[in-house]
Amino acid sequence: MTRYQTRRDKLRRQLKRQAMDSILVTNFTNVTYLTGFTGDDSYLLITPTDAVMISDSRYTQQLEEECPGLDVVTRTSAVPMMASLAKLAKKTALQNLAVESQSMSLALFDQVDATLAGTSLLRSSGLVEGLREIKDADEVQQIRAAIQLAERTFAVVRASLRPERTEKEVAYEIENQIRLFGGSGCSFPPIVAVGPRAALPHAHPTDHQIKESGFVLIDWGARGHLYISDLTRVLVTGKVPAKLEQIYNVVLAAQEKAISKIKPGALMGDVDKAARSVIAKAGYGKRFGHSLGHGIGLEVHEGPSLAPRQQRPLKAGMVVTVEPGIYLPNWGGVRIEDDILVTRNGHEVLSSVPKQFSDCFTI
Ligand code: ZN
Ligand code: ZN
Repeated sequence: MTRYQTRRDKLRRQLKRQAMDSILVTNFTNVTYLTGFTGDDSYLLITPTDAVMISDSRYTQQLEEECPGLDVVTRTSAVPMMASLAKLAKKTALQNLAVESQSMSLALFDQVDATLAGTSLLRSSGLVEGLREIKDADEVQQIRAAIQLAERTFAVVRASLRPERTEKEVAYEIENQIRLFGGSGCSFPPIVAVGPRAALPHAHPTDHQIKESGFVLIDWGARGHLYISDLTRVLVTGKVPAKLEQIYNVVLAAQEKAISKIKPGALMGDVDKAARSVIAKAGYGKRFGHSLGHGIGLEVHEGPSLAPRQQRPLKAGMVVTVEPGIYLPNWGGVRIEDDILVTRNGHEVLSSVPKQFSDCFTI
């Protein structure tokens, strides 16, 4: 049984538990997870006994290469997507069909509803996303590779940092290096934020130069084949600003405290709280406004969420970021982010860029 068949069987068990017979997977990332297919414009119908991809002729060869053995219906202009689905539904005598309500548009819902007049549509929520939270060995391997790409990239970018470089140029250099190392690109547009701009947790790179402040925050990630990494480091590039070392060490202590709590059974909200209380005790509670971390995998933000009031337990196989931050308007911000695997007995920090304050000095 391939890993994709295993995933589809897990999904069938989830469907059964919710009294659903079948599902039309329309979220392309979920289709990739369940089949290995990396194209788009293709939906996957999963019934108790079958899995059928409805695609088109552009993808015939790619489907053969990426998903050998998968049943494929090739839609044409004469028999478009909905007509293909209707034929399949008739053939498999579908009683009910789940749809992915989190990602399906209302327009598509109406189309499917009108097409399958005799089948009741059921709204499902987060079924495949739930499976994606627990990574198998192959996925962990792919995440490790994406982290390695990001770390090699960072080493080169760090060594080539110059005072006159702009945020945009550094961001471009990150993208360039990831591709030169064989990655398929950045997992998200890198954040390169000089000094006060680092007070914006999601700063867009601008023409500000490295030399305009004593430090720069870089939040970047690489996509290897399909899976991604997500890291953040602060580099000291000039005169050390007042408060930087103190704030940095609070954030680092918060991050290390939270990481130390990660193990199967630990509640996500408690891991968030571990970091938040270190920052609050230091007097910066109001300066840490976002959640502590998020799952990574095929997408840069996926489940689970390490956030206040998340009462779910961590499980072995989850891969999460831990990224506390302190942001002071007009001064700047510090965030430190690593990628952590929940193991059977505890956790493994997958990323390894040094992060003591003394490691931040460059140029
Ligand atoms: Zn990040
Ligand atoms: Zn992140």
